Amino acid sequence: MDWFDCVITGARVVDPANGLDAVRDLGFKDGKVAEIAEGGLASRAWRVYDMEGLIAVPGIIDSHVHMRAVNEEIFCGFTMSALSGVCTALEMWGYSESILNALPRWGCGLNIALLEAGVPGVSLSGPDPSMDELDMFTKSALDNGCFGTKLLGGHYPLTPEASARFLRSARKQGAYVAWHAGTTATGTNILGMREACQIAEGGRLHLAHINGNCRGLVNNIMDEIAEAVRLLEENPAITSEAYLSIINGLSLHLGDDGKVASRSLAGLLKKMGYTDDGEGVLSALHAGRLYVIDTVGLQAIRVTGERAARLWREADSRITGSMDANPALSRAAMCLARRKDGSFTVDAISTDGGRYPRNSIVSHGLAMVKAECLTMTEFAVKTSYNPARMIGLETKGHLGPGADGDVTVIDPRACEPVMTLIGGKVNLFKGAIMQQGGTVITTPTGRKAIEARGLPCIVVDPARGSLPFRTSWS
Ligand SMILES: [Zn+2]
Repeated sequence: MDWFDCVITGARVVDPANGLDAVRDLGFKDGKVAEIAEGGLASRAWRVYDMEGLIAVPGIIDSHVHMRAVNEEIFCGFTMSALSGVCTALEMWGYSESILNALPRWGCGLNIALLEAGVPGVSLSGPDPSMDELDMFTKSALDNGCFGTKLLGGHYPLTPEASARFLRSARKQGAYVAWHAGTTATGTNILGMREACQIAEGGRLHLAHINGNCRGLVNNIMDEIAEAVRLLEENPAITSEAYLSIINGLSLHLGDDGKVASRSLAGLLKKMGYTDDGEGVLSALHAGRLYVIDTVGLQAIRVTGERAARLWREADSRITGSMDANPALSRAAMCLARRKDGSFTVDAISTDGGRYPRNSIVSHGLAMVKAECLTMTEFAVKTSYNPARMIGLETKGHLGPGADGDVTVIDPRACEPVMTLIGGKVNLFKGAIMQQGGTVITTPTGRKAIEARGLPCIVVDPARGSLPFRTSWS
């Protein structure tokens, strides 16, 4: 008789792909789900975790994270994500070299896919790079083990024409491509989203944090929500996520002209009645309406007022910040909206967290379940099943035999994660992280580079994927 490496017993197992919502034993062997049974597995296990009264879901996949702030030495995003119950993450602004170097020390056992960000003046020559330059950029990202590329339009825009070339280059080379909407002609708003949908020309694209495009900066929030929902319905090849936290994250850096460099910050400052320069930043900090993100140990926290102003000055403005920028209406709508066929309009609940203190998939997502806005099955769809399909991870997002042994166990009363298993091994257990290093999700092209670093990898072809994956779950 086969023995299991470990068994979770007593938990309510919610696994949408297999139509399961019932108390079951989950048996793991060699890193995979080996057996699911109504009971009796514990007697054949080397280790047993009694999770009675708790809920086990397929390992949570956060489809939008940042593991550190740019130029920061500390990669506390890994710790913060792992502590929040996440098993797998899609990094949206990695300078991949630094993240891959950091992974052995900081990785906290997570699976991670990296997107290389195209930032004018940093990783790209300027706002209007040629097709040749973009092809080189995409190729070097894939060669280095990245899963794809990311356009940071809302913060550091390219021209509309260069943004179109950026997408074409990614698709041509089979890279995953994500876009924080916005170009030199628009911004992080509904106009940027409308433009991104046009430029995508019906092709595949991961459109980031849809809630961020509906902050009422252009029109009435309700009208913006209605337009975003319509745009996603009309562009079914566009996959998307939105987060549930009120707080945003952005750079508070001033450019050479004395104005804030982030276009997104400029727009939000102006909306609050401040100027988009150093004076405006300081006024907003002193008024408690803008925060600086400070790192204390392995946790990033938000501070405001005099202390924040001091930190901003000491850092010579090179520090990240945050505001309570996300209206409740757009957060709730992007979590709950449905397509005409009953499937979710926005595919996933993400966090845009990691290093930004808004790792709220379990805390806020479970609150939506508590409030009877989502069922537990729908929670698992939006936090694991759908993001696994977006990324093309066929052995994740479900708990059938042979699936990867990634599980998040949640306390539904506290809305907190209690345990995660990653690759069949305990990662998070009652507030402590057990594993080190991490596994890189890479493309067939990137495999060599990741193996050369001695890092474990999962190879997925982002161009293959499994669209369309949307179904109605109610
Ligand atoms: Zn982001």
